[in-house]
Amino acid sequence: MARLNWGMVGGGEGSQIGPVHRIASALDTRFDFKAAALDADAEKGRAYARSLGIAPDRAYGTWQEMLAGESNRSDKLDLVTVATPNATHFEITKAFLEAGINVLCEKPMTVTVEEAETIVATAKRTGTICAVNYGYTGYPLVRHMRAMVARGDLGKIRLIVVEFSHGFHADASQADNPRMRWRYDPSQAGVSGQFADCGIHALHMASFVSGQNAHMLSADFASTIASRELEDDAMVNVRMDGGTTVRLWTSSVAVGSFHGLNIRVFGEKGGLRWAQQWPDQLFWTPLNGRTETMERGMGGLSADAERATRIAAGHSEGMLVAFANIYADLADVIEAGRAGRAPTPEALHFPTAEDGLRSIAAIRASVASSRAGGAWVVAEPASLKR
Ligand code: NAD
Repeated sequence: MARLNWGMVGGGEGSQIGPVHRIASALDTRFDFKAAALDADAEKGRAYARSLGIAPDRAYGTWQEMLAGESNRSDKLDLVTVATPNATHFEITKAFLEAGINVLCEKPMTVTVEEAETIVATAKRTGTICAVNYGYTGYPLVRHMRAMVARGDLGKIRLIVVEFSHGFHADASQADNPRMRWRYDPSQAGVSGQFADCGIHALHMASFVSGQNAHMLSADFASTIASRELEDDAMVNVRMDGGTTVRLWTSSVAVGSFHGLNIRVFGEKGGLRWAQQWPDQLFWTPLNGRTETMERGMGGLSADAERATRIAAGHSEGMLVAFANIYADLADVIEAGRAGRAPTPEALHFPTAEDGLRSIAAIRASVASSRAGGAWVVAEPASLKR
């Protein structure tokens, strides 16, 4: 099978998420890393791309040079990952989609709802794929939770409790550290701090597992460190469009919590519990029954979980494989498109631009709700109302 050509914008040397994308895209050897504009500093970006094995004529200084250089090649890129700071996602993603190149955009996809709607419309018009990197939905046991809910094992889902709370920004003496400060500065982060950074991962996880989207929400934001203009802690209550209630807590001052992405799903026939720091175990308690531990890699799990698993039970896989599963989905869909056939249904679980748009609408709604003392606000974007 011909390999796919992959490029990246952002994710330069020393960045947080760049190395994760490079490893995840390479894991299944279906993508070749062919072109890049990796850094805000053009010379640094070119040099780093060359050091990673990119040919000199495809190691670009800026994304605009990359777009111009890559648009009309016969060995065109099949996918570009956009891993730059949030406020630049819209312009870069839109430009590559317009050039007919599929994009995997980091979250949050855009800053405004209008921009997100433009991305959805651009992907539709140009026939390109725009995915958004809610990479934690790539974990095999998260996909198994979704499969269990979809096939009715839990019955009606009454309640989901989800949290993404870490303690990495809890040290008040570090609040002025530039790497931390920008996240709470509206001129750089937008209208929301912690909810836009981590809360939307939790909300997307609840949507992914339940197959429902946020309909209304009520939010309470707090800046627990006084110098922070934007929230570092948020509690958000959500009514989903399928009737499920979601209780969501996100925080960056939760000392002792590390990555802190956990989800509990309570249905009329049983409950599920999963934590990202221990991703290879899923706990299932049928109503009035005993708790069963499901181990990733053991037989008898769903086709979705088996497809997402690379190595046997007992060996840790973790975040790199979860993100690699998003790349595997995209590779399947791109290859199927090339061959003129339908992709395998299990490949269609990657988060899309519509999911990105729903998140931006939820960010805007939660800011409005918090400012209005927790008033209930419509969370679904008007353009996607079912
Ligand atoms: P970072 O500040 O560590 O790195 C950003 C990189 O982008 C740097 O190398 C910088 O030089 C480069 N850059 C900036 N402007 C550029 C431009 N115009 N052209 C090319 N390169 C440019 O940031 P990060 O923590 O890696 O976050 C990047 C994005 O990834 C953010 O949108 C963030 O929300 C997202 N993120 C997602 C996850 C996830 O779990 N999905 C985790 C962390 C970060």
